[in-house]
Amino acid sequence: MKIANLMNEQFHDKDKAREYLENMRWSNGVICPHCGSTEAYKLEAKPNSKRPVRNGVYKCKTCRKQFTVTVGTIFEDSHIPLNKWLMAIYLLCSSKKGMSAHQLHRSLGITYKSAWFMAHRIRYAMTQSPVIDKLQGIVEADETYIGGKHRGKRGRGSENKTPVFALVERNGRVRSFKTERVTAKNLGGKIREHVDKQATIMTDEFLAYKNLGKEYEHHTVNHGSGEYVNGNAHTNTVEGFFSILKRGINGVYHHVSEQHLERYLAEFGFRYDNRKVEDAVRASIALSQIEGKRLTYKVPC
Ligand SMILES: [Zn+2]
Repeated sequence: MKIANLMNEQFHDKDKAREYLENMRWSNGVICPHCGSTEAYKLEAKPNSKRPVRNGVYKCKTCRKQFTVTVGTIFEDSHIPLNKWLMAIYLLCSSKKGMSAHQLHRSLGITYKSAWFMAHRIRYAMTQSPVIDKLQGIVEADETYIGGKHRGKRGRGSENKTPVFALVERNGRVRSFKTERVTAKNLGGKIREHVDKQATIMTDEFLAYKNLGKEYEHHTVNHGSGEYVNGNAHTNTVEGFFSILKRGINGVYHHVSEQHLERYLAEFGFRYDNRKVEDAVRASIALSQIEGKRLTYKVPC
């Protein structure tokens, strides 16, 4: 199912939002999140009963527990109305450089703290599952530095900055990582973990990549001598990813603490991997990843 645009009712009415989510998660019938049973019924107030029943509550016939569609998702235990959650997901999926918690706070009419918390949970949903296939074909590898006060890449100027290493399939997917130090051991380890042995790797001539040729077909481009494209050997794709990442982190998020950097990498990676589909489809893909990703962050004061 697609989210067509922000005018749709699920973004403006919390009951419609819940129905929308029920149709999405339970397209083949209601499933109890506690025991997996498909024998559940909707609780309705008894005629003449004075006890109100909350909308959207189901009861499992097998384990007798009650639940709603948000149990087991990033929305669980949140006081933010569900339609605002759906709208935040849409906004984060459709804004190329992301959207700050300040902007979400103003656009959705929720507190800054709630907006911050919400955005982090959504980034969490955007995180790739740990079991993913390896990158194939031509894979470009490069590192960059995020944060800090000074411009500069390796060596001078990179103090206070956090190295980010990225692997990008040409015309395909990205994996990016916060890295402690850009050593052959660290970068090589990520490459072995994420890149198929049959792939061809493109890098610049940084020493940390020197031994890759022993395990992979490896081509380099010599940036030091002003060479940017050497036949098919270039790293323009991964540099393109870094450029979107930096415009977003510098322009929208201003400051990203090292502690949360991986969440932002997940967000930019998610949009990059799904860049060829329209906003509505990208948002529904994010929405399909809300399960099993409950996050119990404390909102920082
Ligand atoms: Zn059950």
